[in-house]
Amino acid sequence: MTDEPARPHVLSTRAPQVRPRAEGWTQQKDAEGRPLLQFGSPKRGKPPAHLADLTPEQRVAKVAQLGLPGFRAAQVEKHYFTHYTSDPAQMTDLPASGREELVAGLLPPLLTEVRRLQTDRGDTVKFLWKLHDGALVESVLMRYPGRITLCVSSQAGCGMNCPFCATGQAGLTRNMSAAEIVAQVVRANRLIRDGGLGDPRGVGHDDERVTNIVFMGMGEPLANYARVLQAVRVMTDKKHGMGMSARGITVSTVGLVPAIRKLADEGIPVTFALSLHAPDDGLRDEMIPINSRWKVDEALDAARAYFDKTGRRVSIEYALIKDMNDHAWRADLLAEKLNARGRGWVHVNPIPLNPTPGSVWTSSEKPVQDEFVRRLNDAGIPTTLRDTRGKEIDGACGQLVATEADAEAAEAVSAS
Ligand code: SAH
Repeated sequence: MTDEPARPHVLSTRAPQVRPRAEGWTQQKDAEGRPLLQFGSPKRGKPPAHLADLTPEQRVAKVAQLGLPGFRAAQVEKHYFTHYTSDPAQMTDLPASGREELVAGLLPPLLTEVRRLQTDRGDTVKFLWKLHDGALVESVLMRYPGRITLCVSSQAGCGMNCPFCATGQAGLTRNMSAAEIVAQVVRANRLIRDGGLGDPRGVGHDDERVTNIVFMGMGEPLANYARVLQAVRVMTDKKHGMGMSARGITVSTVGLVPAIRKLADEGIPVTFALSLHAPDDGLRDEMIPINSRWKVDEALDAARAYFDKTGRRVSIEYALIKDMNDHAWRADLLAEKLNARGRGWVHVNPIPLNPTPGSVWTSSEKPVQDEFVRRLNDAGIPTTLRDTRGKEIDGACGQLVATEADAEAAEAVSAS
C-alpha cells in the first residue's frame, strides 16, 4: 500500500508567509516564535445588538420595550429577511411615528462595504466588509447552474493557524455576531435582486436568492459555536427568518471534536464538512495544528457519528499540495480509514491548493490529482475534484485575506 512513506519536513523548509495586519491585534507566539492556537476571542467592543441576534420571543420583548405592540417585530423581520432592507423609508406599513427609533433599535448597520470585486463573467463576486470596530471580513458569492452559493465568514481572522491558509496566517481578531454572519446573506440577496450577480444566460430572475451557504470564508465556525448556530437558525427559520433549507448549508471545520458531537445533537440537518487534508497524524499535525489536540481517528469517528445522528452524508475536504499530501499511498490510507468506518456515509472533495502569497507550496500536478481521485473512487469512496472559483479576485479557498495592500492592488478592478 505504501509507495513512499517519507514525508517532507514541512516547517523547516517553510518560507516566511505574508502576515496581513489585523487592527489592534498582536499574534501570540511560543518560545520558538511559532504562532499559538487561539480559542478565546480577544475582548473588543461588542457589535450592536440586532434583530438577528435575538430569538423571536426576544424580538417581541424588545419591540415592547420600545413602546410598540409585539406584532411590529414580525413586520420588521419580513422587511429585513425577505425584502433585504433596513431602510425605514421603505417600511411604509409601519406607523411613521416611532418608525425610525424602531428600526434603529432592531436593525443597526453592521457591515460597511469597502470593496467589491467581480470576475469578468460577473458570476463570482467578492465583498470586503468593515465591521463596526474596523475589523475586516469577506464573503464570496458564486453563481452555478441551478444554485447560488455564498461563502460566509464566521470570525474576523482565525485562531487555527493552518500554515497553507491565508486567514490562518492572520490570527484571530474576534468572533462575529450572529447578525453579522446573517447580514452577509442579506446583503448578497440584495445584490442578486438588484441584478448585480451576472447571469451567463442573460436572463433576469426576480425571485432569485442565495440557495446554498458554505461556512468556508474566514474563521473556524465551531470555535464561534453559539453565534454560528443562532445564524443557522435564522437562515433556516421559515416563519421568523430566511426559510432556507438546512441541507443547503455546509458547516466546515478543522475538527473540533466536542463541537462536532454537539452539532450532531442540534437536530438541524446541516451538511457537515471536515477539513482533513492528511490521513496520517504525522503530516496532519503539521498542516492542521489542532490535530495536536484531536487526532485524525478521533475527527473521523466524530464525522461518522454525525452521519449516524443526522443521516447526512459527510464531506471530507482535502487540499492537494504538491509532494506534501498528494501521494498515492495517502489516497489509499484515506480510503482505508473511511471504509473502516462503513460504506455510503462519506464523500471526498479534493481541491487543488490555491497558493497563498509567499507560500512555498504549490498545487499538485494534474496527473497526480487524477490518480488521487481515481484511487479513492476505485476503493468505493465517491470522490470529486472541486473546482476553484474566483482565483483572479483572490476569492478562492484560503485566499481570503483583507489587507490594505490587497485592497489597493485590487483598486483597478473594483466594481463598486
Ligand atoms: N475553518 C474552517 C473553514 C475555513 S476554509 C475549516 O478549516 O474547515 C474552508 C476550506 O478551505 C477548508 O477546508 C480549508 O482547509 C480550505 N483551504 C484553506 N486554505 C486553502 C488553500 N490555500 N487552498 C485550498 N483550500 C484551502
